[in-house]
Amino acid sequence: MADASAECNIKVLCRFRPLNQSEIIRGDKFLPIFQGDDTVIIGGKSFVFDRVFPTNTTQEQVYNSCAKQIVRDVLDGYNGTIFAYGQTSSGKTHTMEGKLHDPNGMGIIPRIADDIFHHIFAMDENLEFHIKVSYFEIYMDKIRDLLDVSKTNLSVHEDKNRVPYVKGCTERFVSSPEEVMDVIDEGKSNRHVAVTNMNEHSSRSHSIFLINIKQEHVETEQKLSGKLYLVDLAGSEKVSKTGAEGSVLDEAKNINKSLSALGNVISALAEGTKTHVPYRDSKMTRILQDSLGGNCRTTMFICCSPSSFNEAETKSTLMFGQRAK
Ligand code: ADP
Ligand code: MG
Repeated sequence: MADASAECNIKVLCRFRPLNQSEIIRGDKFLPIFQGDDTVIIGGKSFVFDRVFPTNTTQEQVYNSCAKQIVRDVLDGYNGTIFAYGQTSSGKTHTMEGKLHDPNGMGIIPRIADDIFHHIFAMDENLEFHIKVSYFEIYMDKIRDLLDVSKTNLSVHEDKNRVPYVKGCTERFVSSPEEVMDVIDEGKSNRHVAVTNMNEHSSRSHSIFLINIKQEHVETEQKLSGKLYLVDLAGSEKVSKTGAEGSVLDEAKNINKSLSALGNVISALAEGTKTHVPYRDSKMTRILQDSLGGNCRTTMFICCSPSSFNEAETKSTLMFGQRAK
């Protein structure tokens, strides 16, 4: 076991995407003013994070400045979570997944897959590795297995060490980056088949990719395990109170509730003095409990649009990120 008393390490990184075509055509203004590498100013207000990535930051730069170290830590037996938070179309999926099969366009998850196996091939050959992955989503507080479409309402249980897990969720053993990518492709195509409008659906559900790494020394039998949750959150935008009704309003309330539960957990952890961290307030925070607490590495990407049209949402997204500092 890694040192469980290790300081809980929460990093908040902010990334702005470029203006898109329709924003340019509409004549939207480009709002953010970047200062140094940790500050952005929006409408006269400064927001400071561990790092701010301006619009021209490459996928490789983003990866190297945060996720790379987390991979090493997970191989050293720490748990970790990387989130992407932001309104729909702010760059969450671009950051977490990117273009899965394009070496320049690849986001964090495919780069992690590559990196894990790079490290392993360079390590002591007396170490035996067992790596498994799961892929599921949380929609309207129901956990759906993306690797087995028959499992549409899984529940959260605790194992004998009181570690929470999603009971019955498919686990796939993987032994190369290509196998990890195959699992992601499979999960994504299952997700597409199950819903009529993928864009709408992905903006209202949280998708969670879990990588679990166990290692054992063949002679000493010494064991070490670490896991990493990679979370592409539902869109954080407020649904207008007048426009939404019925199922749309229910969805919005549900997302709101789970995102604020996450915000409360992160800010309690960031404060460090609170003895009560409200993990039990949502399914997602229950699942992530042992990857957000003491023995963990947590990184939150705050994804933002630069457009004047989205100013209010962008400010509220940035405020969410500040709560974790
Ligand atoms: P979200 O998952 O938050 O809804 P996406 O990641 O799907 O948003 O991004 C919306 C669109 O913007 C996509 O077409 C994506 O390729 C593009 N995009 C997002 N971030 C960037 C970026 N940093 N650089 C270039 N294009 C981006
Ligand atoms: Mg998305």
